Amino acid sequence: MSKYDYDLITIGAGSGGVRASRLAGKYGARVAVIENSRIGGTCVMRGCVPKKLLVYGAHFAHLFEDAAGFGWQVNGATHDWGAMIDAKNKELNRLEGIYNRLLRDANVELVAGRGVLGDAHTVEVNGKRLTAEKILIGTGGWPVVPDFPGKEHVITSNEALDLPTRPKRIVIVGGGYIAVEFAGIFNALGSEVTIIIRRGALLRGFDLDVRTELADELAKKGIKIHRDCTVRSVEKTAKGYSISFDMAEEMETDCVMYATGRAPATKNLGLEQAGVKTRDNGAVIVDDHNRSSVENIYALGDVTDRINLTPVAINEGRAFAETHYNKNPITMDYTNIASAVFSQPPVATVGLSEEDARKKHKVRLFITRFRPMKHTLSGRDERVMMKLVVDKETDKVLGAHMVGEDAPEIIQGLAIALKCGATKAQFDATVGIHPTAAEEFVTMRDPVPEKDPADKEL
Ligand code: NDP
Repeated sequence: MSKYDYDLITIGAGSGGVRASRLAGKYGARVAVIENSRIGGTCVMRGCVPKKLLVYGAHFAHLFEDAAGFGWQVNGATHDWGAMIDAKNKELNRLEGIYNRLLRDANVELVAGRGVLGDAHTVEVNGKRLTAEKILIGTGGWPVVPDFPGKEHVITSNEALDLPTRPKRIVIVGGGYIAVEFAGIFNALGSEVTIIIRRGALLRGFDLDVRTELADELAKKGIKIHRDCTVRSVEKTAKGYSISFDMAEEMETDCVMYATGRAPATKNLGLEQAGVKTRDNGAVIVDDHNRSSVENIYALGDVTDRINLTPVAINEGRAFAETHYNKNPITMDYTNIASAVFSQPPVATVGLSEEDARKKHKVRLFITRFRPMKHTLSGRDERVMMKLVVDKETDKVLGAHMVGEDAPEIIQGLAIALKCGATKAQFDATVGIHPTAAEEFVTMRDPVPEKDPADKEL
């Protein structure tokens, strides 16, 4: 008989926590999951899923416009924001039901409340003390808004997903994933969108060609990007909000949204009293096996601030459960993890950017920009950009990048090729599917002429 109430207590029922707990339960462990909000966490309730549903909803506006070039008359199409939000919420309720059922079927006990570590084996919740041999922290992250006068007037992605009405004008501060995705949603549905970035370019960390290409495409859609700009204050006015900047004129808007990053949710979690070490930003420090500085306490997903993507957290959860409860030790491999930004058009990428590749490799670059076939008739001024970064010495493809329709679907396939260490010669030997945009990835023959990479700095 174990001296603990459970084999495993998981704090946080997000993607990673649920996967780990569910598998552990399936393998016979006695598991409790503590969650103070809705089951499913950021991805299902406040992130990937509702965002993607809104991206689909907004994209119809472009499809209606494009249809005219093919003989359709789609006159008088109108959009009901409230109906879209209701439909999205209905789907989230359905998914929450599924998550609940999955946990129940794996004999995982769900405890509603806020879990706080008492010591290395104890979690306090709802005034009760629960003990476990192992504790897994999967509390995720939360939007960060810097301090400035009027901070209380701004919203984050959490609220943007549930606005009662669509603002006619919206200012989005930040130039990362969330900013450009929401800019696309509001712009397609007819809002006047301005993105405010404190430096020169969107999407820090992505390949520079991707960053400039996306900025060009957003500008063509009417999204304004104010660069090198910092918000000084936000004031409520009779008509909406007035924003003042360090280096620019004041601006009036109906809604100010901050998408300036997310921080690990570790405040008041009792980590210190349990001896769990964190980085300055609150992220739980873990080793390659998700183990924290305390031997029996583990952490996964965004709370560790490594690669903050849902499928990464899910794989970390699987690796944890397989290792500890199925005698199948798995170490997560973080190389060549593909990711996508669901902007309009979307971006997707796998492997190294040109800039990162150049730090360690001599490279050959293959870039193509073209008008997709659909837009020859639709008339839309939207181009696709594809880029391969190839190691000059080994011929291995180090990175594949795309801006354009279906980029996430296409790059997912290429991620397998990069994971297998495919060479450019093997890309060249692959016969394309015609007519597709994707075939361009296997028909780029001429490398771009070499030039000084410093020329490309923004
Ligand atoms: P990001 O870290 O992607 O971007 C933050 C942006 O805010 C950057 O442009 C940054 O500018 C800017 N910024 C940061 N601090 C300030 C400040 N004080 N004032 C002004 N601007 C500031 O964060 P997001 O919030 O967009 O997304 C959070 C994370 O969520 C992502 O990193 C990603 O891991 C995940 N995510 C993934 C998605 C996907 O896979 N499709 C979708 C949405 C989120 P600068 O570049 O100058 O630092």
